[in-house]
Amino acid sequence: MKNKCIACSVEIFDKNTISLNIKLLGKNIENYYCLDCLANYLNVTKDELLEKIEEFKSEGCKLFN
Ligand SMILES: [Zn+2]
Repeated sequence: MKNKCIACSVEIFDKNTISLNIKLLGKNIENYYCLDCLANYLNVTKDELLEKIEEFKSEGCKLFN
């Protein structure tokens, strides 16, 4: 399955980025943002999103690896 960023059309290869979209935007979303556009959309920095991923990982969320 190919996932493209809804904002900039870049292909998203990182499963954790997809998972983060699902976590932050809801599991019924059909469109995903790449990390840069997600940061832009949520008005946070990319580093904050990467921290979020680590946070979810450490919580043992199965969406992340
Ligand atoms: Zn993008």
